Amino acid sequence: MQRRLIAAMAATVSVAACAYNEDLGRKQFLLVSNDSLVSASNQAWAETLRQGRVSQNTSYNARVTTVGQKLVQAAGVADRPWQYVVFEDASANAFVLPGGQIGVNTGLLALVQNDDQLAAVIGHEIGHLTAQHAAERYSQTAASQAIVAAGASAVGGTGTEKARLLSSLGGAGAQVGFLLPFSRRHELEADALGVDYMARAGYRPSEAVALWRLMAQNRTAGGPPQMLSTHPTEEARIQALEALIRQRGLS
Ligand SMILES: [Zn+2]
Repeated sequence: MQRRLIAAMAATVSVAACAYNEDLGRKQFLLVSNDSLVSASNQAWAETLRQGRVSQNTSYNARVTTVGQKLVQAAGVADRPWQYVVFEDASANAFVLPGGQIGVNTGLLALVQNDDQLAAVIGHEIGHLTAQHAAERYSQTAASQAIVAAGASAVGGTGTEKARLLSSLGGAGAQVGFLLPFSRRHELEADALGVDYMARAGYRPSEAVALWRLMAQNRTAGGPPQMLSTHPTEEARIQALEALIRQRGLS
């Protein structure tokens, strides 16, 4: 009985939420949209600004904003709010929040050799947002929790047992976790979208490949931690990007 209930829930959820995304060429499981994460995102951003060291370097800020604005135009999402902030941080990192906040570290600005490479990173971050990756990850977490919660209450048991069951299956993920690394699939999708935005904005997509080579070199040279170093390896990204650039006839 319990099992049937859970299966029915899971089925309802997936029928209601699986929508085909043309840009990604696959179905997405979305219980929420990116827009419904905006207020949580704004809170996370306020916290990030409080905790991080915001750079006051006006030329850094102008550079990131200029590249970012060209890319959001190219991505067709310039009509929503975007913010660009540079953080004093030696790791070659960048991130995006669902509210359109883009953070770029000074360590990344020090590493990139040109604006095309910077555009590869920012285009990638914009890709995470347009592809609704945060909403998709949130939906997956919420659904697995709902199913586990239904299982826990059907099974009975003490509150402590239920709590343990929930936390073992990502109860902690109830916090939206915007800054967690994305999955390998999400990373590669964001790479592909980023390359399209680069090309449309007049940047050279081949510089995305050069950037990841640089990231890999910097890492083996014992540089500071690299962007999302675990997902996926630079070699896998480079190969996927090269294939994509060839296939699209870009350079
Ligand atoms: Zn990413």
